[in-house]
Amino acid sequence: MPERAFKLYDTQSRQVKALQTMEPGHLRFYSCGPTVYSYAHIGNFRSFLAADLVVRTAKALGWRVSWVTNITDVGHLTQDDVADAGGEDRMEKALHSKEGEQFANVWDLAEYYTTCYLEDWERLNLSRPEVRPRATQHVREQIVMTEELVANGHAYETPTGVYFNVDSKPDYGKLSGNTRDKLKEAVRDVVMDDNKRQQADFALWKKDDKHLMQWFSPWGWGFPGWHIECSAMARAYLGDTIDLHSGGEDNMFPHHECEIAQSESFTGKPFCNHWMHVRFLQVEGEKMAKRTGNFYTVRDLIEEGYDPIALRYALMSVPYGKPFNFTLQGLRDAMGNVERFRECWRRAEAAAEGPSTGIDGEGIDAFRAQLERLYDESLDAMCDDLNTSVGIAKALEGTKVILRESQLSQGQALVASRFLSQVEALLGIAPKPVDPQASGSQTSAYPVIDGRPIEVWIEERAQAKKSKDFAAADAIRKRLSDEGFELRDTPDGTSWTKSVP
Ligand SMILES: [Zn+2]
Repeated sequence: MPERAFKLYDTQSRQVKALQTMEPGHLRFYSCGPTVYSYAHIGNFRSFLAADLVVRTAKALGWRVSWVTNITDVGHLTQDDVADAGGEDRMEKALHSKEGEQFANVWDLAEYYTTCYLEDWERLNLSRPEVRPRATQHVREQIVMTEELVANGHAYETPTGVYFNVDSKPDYGKLSGNTRDKLKEAVRDVVMDDNKRQQADFALWKKDDKHLMQWFSPWGWGFPGWHIECSAMARAYLGDTIDLHSGGEDNMFPHHECEIAQSESFTGKPFCNHWMHVRFLQVEGEKMAKRTGNFYTVRDLIEEGYDPIALRYALMSVPYGKPFNFTLQGLRDAMGNVERFRECWRRAEAAAEGPSTGIDGEGIDAFRAQLERLYDESLDAMCDDLNTSVGIAKALEGTKVILRESQLSQGQALVASRFLSQVEALLGIAPKPVDPQASGSQTSAYPVIDGRPIEVWIEERAQAKKSKDFAAADAIRKRLSDEGFELRDTPDGTSWTKSVP
């Protein structure tokens, strides 16, 4: 079988291309993590999820993956997003806010939000990275890098800190297109920091003996800049050159541009061969913002009773490179689809443990062939620039194949379990339910109406519509509606939601 190529859009070359690893079959991957000054919102997790899906797809191809994703717990300033290296430290600002009052100090605040982030990570079923370094644990590496950049003429010291001189790196701007000339235009409106030679220069070290998190350095007490942490930690764990680097679209400039400048000026080698950026999401058609009331953290939604796996499903339902409008209706639909996978697991487990159901005839071959084909097509879609909408649709089609059987044979149960395990490994939307014994009972999360699972009702209604028996189809819709289940017809089939009383 010819080897599958794993194609991803590369921001730097602006094209979809096969992800090449320097060492065959071993991906060295760095993805930017959160700044832990607050709870992560669903937009942050869209980005983390895309990184998780890269890892899952690479592993499905049999690759070894070294995945490093960091935690920023110092140095991210409010004006870092405009290449200014000014403003307040986000961590300190959070401590002085209303929410910050509950923390004794900034270290406790960082610890608290780190723990919450890791909980959200687990609940959304993201896989574990090989290393999850924290900026505060790698200050020494950042100082060493900064010292060398000063020594080799790429950085200079001023009364307020150490800054990287972007003029020393002629190809600065190659990732984002924000070249030095363009920047001179763009930053005219920003207040000039007199300590910098030019506005686009960015901080490697900030001198500040009042800062709540400070270390001693060759330049006195202070703290590292935000960008240098990722350069230092990527190099510490993955080496001078990495295969792939990802982040949110807001990370592209200045954060990743600055990482490239620092790392390449330090090592003299290319920093990264492939760049991936995840688009922001909108919520109910608008930019997510606290003041418009459409700002969702992962834990808000989970606390409101939404299933975390359904949230994962909803967040990955649109490919990472496309604009995505997150809606609560979309999340409710996802709940119904996630339940299909659970019901498949329950039936497969029950059939595997139940009495032998006789010989598997020719039927099993067709059943197996269908599921194998659908898994292959799902993996193909993921290898096609993480086309999650097709990847999920193929997996969902597999649930229809399984749920169509009124009773799985033991052989079919094995085949179904294998399919579900593969889908779970690739997409993370089909974890085995904790209590498979709940199969078919009224307490099952997969609802049973008049003794029949909702899936059977939906199938029957589809058949009725096909044979133009609209009265029968309507009767089914009505019966389900009386029980609080609303059906929704989509191009992928019919999904259901239960109105929350
Ligand atoms: Zn980063």
